[in-house]
Amino acid sequence: MSGQNYLYFAKAKRHTYWKDISERDWFDWNWQIKNRVTDPLLLQKLLHLSGKETKNIQDSLKILRMALSPYFLSQIDMDDPHCPIRMQSVPTLYETIISKADHEDPLNEEEDCPVKGLEGVLTHRYPDRLIIYVTYQCSMYCRHCTRRRHAGETDIPTPLPLIEKAVDYIRKTKNIRDVLISGGDPLTLKTEYLEKIIKLIRTVKHVEVVRIGTRVPVVMPMRITDELITMLKKYHPIWINTHFNHPKEMTDLSSRACQKIVDGGIPLGNQTVLLRGINNHPLIIKKLMKLLVANRVRPYYLFQCDLSQGIEHFRTKISEGIEIIENLRGHTSGFAIPVFAVDGLGGGGKTPLGPNYVVSQSNHKWVFRNFEGLMFAYTEPKDYTYEPPSQMDKYIDEEDKKHILGVSEILSSQSNKVNIIPEGLARHKRRTK
Ligand SMILES: *Cc1c(COP(=O)(O)O)cnc(C)c1O
Ligand code: SF4
Repeated sequence: MSGQNYLYFAKAKRHTYWKDISERDWFDWNWQIKNRVTDPLLLQKLLHLSGKETKNIQDSLKILRMALSPYFLSQIDMDDPHCPIRMQSVPTLYETIISKADHEDPLNEEEDCPVKGLEGVLTHRYPDRLIIYVTYQCSMYCRHCTRRRHAGETDIPTPLPLIEKAVDYIRKTKNIRDVLISGGDPLTLKTEYLEKIIKLIRTVKHVEVVRIGTRVPVVMPMRITDELITMLKKYHPIWINTHFNHPKEMTDLSSRACQKIVDGGIPLGNQTVLLRGINNHPLIIKKLMKLLVANRVRPYYLFQCDLSQGIEHFRTKISEGIEIIENLRGHTSGFAIPVFAVDGLGGGGKTPLGPNYVVSQSNHKWVFRNFEGLMFAYTEPKDYTYEPPSQMDKYIDEEDKKHILGVSEILSSQSNKVNIIPEGLARHKRRTK
């Protein structure tokens, strides 16, 4: 592979069932949404499924609904039962199995809602950023979806009064500088409604960045229209994160969609979920990361699969993620390497994990190992103790000093905090004073 060809894995295919659909319809995302395959019997016909497979699909649908955009369905390899596109989009009976480790809302997104009545509309967990859910519609329902308790609940977008209420909260919460628009898939909204929402958020002066999380470049790339990009460009800085999981998803159409976004001046990141049997191989992830970068998409996160209900069959060992990072760091471009993270149960938040590179340390020396196994020392300056230099003070915002918390507060020389103690510690309860 060389040059242009490396930008995509394959030409976008079209299932023969839709061979007579005009180009105009096929490339119209409204047509794609309207013609999503939601009926197991139609799917049976299109994918030549057995009666048993179809029955299993029907039985699994009470858990999470099914919808495949004609575009995404067309990318399925008909001869491969383990086709990564198929495994992400066609339900199986495994989804009805709830394991002991499963949780309905593993990340406590509902509990971390700061406004009564906005549960499922707003999650505020981190100090300076929050998520607003603008729809629970998607063009394709990923079988590994972590927000499956809501995904596909309704095709009706979050009503404007609720969005207004959420924006009121953002307005009075001065330290929010990054608003993440998510769902569902926000790019299934009509451009006018999405613009209304972004415009509203943009009336808040302290919001610096607006981010959109969307899988549309992967599952319905025709949604990335000139009209959409022209609208988004009016509200810069806009950032987008998308969700490629496998090299096969980077068709020529997806490639064009990504580049259109980036050409609009929108930094485009990617979040991949590690999925058993789909992408849990270091060389698959490496190939995907290289394809992303060739398309100017910056790998952002590689997620350990969450503990949502009915997706245990997709989960891998955490060590696989660490091994993947071991296979990337040093072996390929630094900007082709995502952060491998586990999203903590109960709203613990994203926790980065990776191989260890520190071999040992002494008073002045550290010994590291590199990706080749080579070891080397770093000698720290002698006769030097660190004190934050006062000449920097004038460049530091007073407001920022107030928001140091957690472990960084313990580390801060400005603070007297020396520990963080979990609530209800048994050892503390035993004490008589
Ligand atoms: C992931 C997430 C964010 C964004 O986190 P980043 O690390 O900044 O991408 C914000 N809020 C919640 C609740 C999240 O889960
Ligand atoms: S696009 Fe996102 S929200 Fe929709 S089903 Fe896939 S993972 Fe879930």
